[in-house]
This record gives sequence, structure tokens and C-alpha cells, in this order.
Amino acid sequence: MEQLTVKDVLDKTTDFFKEHGIDTPRLDAEILLAEVLELERIKLYVNFDQPLENSEVDQYRELIVSRSKGIPVAYLVQKQEFMSLEFKVTPDVLIPRPETEHLVETTLELIAELDRTELKIVDVGTGSGAIIISLVKLASKELTGVGIDISEQALKVAQKNAIKQQVKGKIEFKVGDLLEPLNDSVDLIVSNPPYIPTGQLASLQQEVKAEPMLALDGGAEGLDYYYQIIKQATAKLRAGGLILLEVGINQARKIADVLAEFNFKEIEIIEDYSGIERVVKASYDKE
Ligand code: GLN
Repeated sequence: MEQLTVKDVLDKTTDFFKEHGIDTPRLDAEILLAEVLELERIKLYVNFDQPLENSEVDQYRELIVSRSKGIPVAYLVQKQEFMSLEFKVTPDVLIPRPETEHLVETTLELIAELDRTELKIVDVGTGSGAIIISLVKLASKELTGVGIDISEQALKVAQKNAIKQQVKGKIEFKVGDLLEPLNDSVDLIVSNPPYIPTGQLASLQQEVKAEPMLALDGGAEGLDYYYQIIKQATAKLRAGGLILLEVGINQARKIADVLAEFNFKEIEIIEDYSGIERVVKASYDKE
């Protein structure tokens, strides 16, 4: 039997994924094959006529079957790029999203503008650690980070990522509920809490349903965690401290109202590149 080449398997797999309603069939086929062949994706093209070993075909087939059942590519290859950094991901953590880069970029700009040279920052519901690790790694100032999560399994992934990105010594990971485990006060609070309304969980894409519900379910209106974080933040922020929250579609105004209720000032809603209100930012001055 003639051996299958890179091109053959990519074409076949793309068709197979199309039949299974996968959104990005060619891209997914390429990422998974690159993983099996231990090549950069771009290199597949120069190896188009390379025949595959039987063992490679078998390994690829297994990944394709899992993908066709709705397992996200990031879980299959156990990694996801975020802020141009590579993060380890497992089904214990939410896969970092491109829109969350907006929260990180906004926070980085803000950090650059602040006149303090050293800052302490906490990420509530850190998951893979993508937010706090990117901030500590990419900020123009010396940051001390704290990453909190209620899931010990998630924190294990976050810790591995901190090592991988060489910021282990600068971030402390704590298990617990929202801001409760935080002992001292901080200059900045960031969070991408679970914000999907419970009633919408059942209609999520199959891929999203493969992610931890704990990281998605935000209660009846998707706002439960925001109330709690904002309330707790008043006791944890230093004078003049700032909070930045990623929000879901049509949640920004309501969250801005909650911040106002708790006496936060300079409340600002920031849109992402698609024009969606994505980040709410505010400052807190203790009386
Ligand atoms: N952005 C994620 C999604 O819509 C939700 C993450 C979250 O709840 N914070 O799939």
C-alpha cells in the first residue's frame, strides 16, 4: 500500500473535520499534525510530500477522533498561546482567550502610567495563570503577583506555567475563594471571573462545554462573582488602588453600577478590538 503523505492526511482530515462541523477544519488538522510530527505548523508546507510512518498515522488518528468529538485543540496539544507566550493547559483550566489579551494590555498600559515603581497585583480566579504571568513577565515595572483559585488542580497548572515563563519567584499562588486568601493589601486587582449566565450553559458550543464549568458559570445573570469580588476589593485595595475586570457581552454597564454603589471612582468601560465592551476599570480611595 502506498504511504500517505503530509498533504494526503491534511486534505482527508480537513474534509473529515468539515463533516463534523468543526469551525476551523484546516487549521485544526495542521496544528494536530504538527504536534504529532514535532514540527512547527509552518514547516508542514515544506514537508508536504513527506510520507508518514504508520505510528504517526495512528497517533494522528487518535487525536482526530478526539477532536471530532468536540475536545478543543488546546487540550489535545496541552498548550495555548496567549500574549505571544506559550501556556500549558489541561481540562482543569479555562483555555485563555484572545479577548482576555485586552484585559492584560489595558492593565499593562495602566501600570506604565502609574508613578510607583513597585506594585503588588492579584489575579482572582487565575486558572492557567495566563493573566498574572503575562502581566508580571511583560510589565515595564517590578511586579509582585498573587494568583488565587478555588481549584487546586488549576493552581498546579498555573505553577507549571510560572516556571515555564521564569516568573516563579515573583508570583505566589493561593488556593481559596476569590479574594479571601489574600492577607495584605494590593495596588491592583484583575480578574476574568466566570460570567456566563447559568441558563446559557446548556447551549454553549461543545468545545466550551469541555472546559471547567466552575470557570464559566457566573450564576443567574452571570454577575455573581463580580458582586463578591467588588465587595471584597474594598477591604483589599490600597488607597488609590485599581480594579480591572473582564466582562461578558452586555454586562459592563451593570458592573459599572455595582462599582459606583461601592464608592469606586473613575469608572471606565473599555471596548475590545471588535467594539465589544470588554473591560471595566475603576479606582478606589479609602475615606
Ligand atoms: N470568554 C469565555 C467564553 O465566552 C467565558 C469566560 C468566563 O466566563 N470568564 O467562552
